[in-house]
Amino acid sequence: MIVEIISVGTELLMGSIVNTNAQHIARALAHMGLDAYYQTVVGDNPERLRAALDIAYTRADCVITTGGLGPTKDDLTKEMLISYFGCTPVEDAEALRRLEERAAKRGIPLSDSMRKQATVPSGATVLQNDHGTAPGVIIEKDGRACIMLPGPPKEMKPMFETACDVFLRAKSDKVFVSMNIKLYSMAEKGLPVGESPVADRLGALVDGENPSVATYAKEDGCLVRVTAAAPTAEEARALLAPTLAAVREAIGEEYIRTMDED
Ligand code: ATP
Ligand code: MG
Repeated sequence: MIVEIISVGTELLMGSIVNTNAQHIARALAHMGLDAYYQTVVGDNPERLRAALDIAYTRADCVITTGGLGPTKDDLTKEMLISYFGCTPVEDAEALRRLEERAAKRGIPLSDSMRKQATVPSGATVLQNDHGTAPGVIIEKDGRACIMLPGPPKEMKPMFETACDVFLRAKSDKVFVSMNIKLYSMAEKGLPVGESPVADRLGALVDGENPSVATYAKEDGCLVRVTAAAPTAEEARALLAPTLAAVREAIGEEYIRTMDED
């Protein structure tokens, strides 16, 4: 399955906040062996969100959105997607119960704008929000899926975990395991540890596909990433081991600062 992330929020577009949600989700998708080739950031604007969805579904089967599920006027992701998928809006009893309970605890009546958060597309899987008010939703229709998650990371992350358990993991038949080998910087050791000398030492090892070996020039020294894909993490680690040993030998232990599984 090909997945695409659409991060909704004018704050993101203006550079007021950093898109940590996309980073969190993208990283998890990579670990789960799900392909994700594009990410989009779009403001709180229904027409532009619709356009972003149109484009996303030309190249992905599943879109994950974050943001715009809350009670305020600019929170329009769910309404937009209900109309996009041609679903009927229905009120989710459990989401409503939670909203009422929350309002009662605060001693206030449940306003219409608060209540609208319990509206979900009919037939969707509802992801209850244990850390905030707006539930998330998984819609599957006509071979396309959409997972809608709230914007605040403390709400988004646990809900995304649930979405992985109930939906995403089953869509992948492999997991990825990576080992990050961090080298000393040139300044630290006075060794020729820039990206090209390292690539020279690795030689044909960088041509492998599974495991793959890639070099990245970082500000504080070169990073070599060795990644294997297999049905389980244990199998991926076993597959990784011989390439990892060959990479370490090619680089030379004295050049290696740290080695961590990602
Ligand atoms: P709320 O009920 O809080 O309004 P929401 O689902 O409507 O939630 P937004 O209104 O889009 O989400 O964003 C609420 C807050 O969540 C933002 O002000 C920001 O702090 C955080 N947030 C939103 N999107 C992201 C993102 N992509 N990465 C990191 N933080 C985000
Ligand atoms: Mg909001």
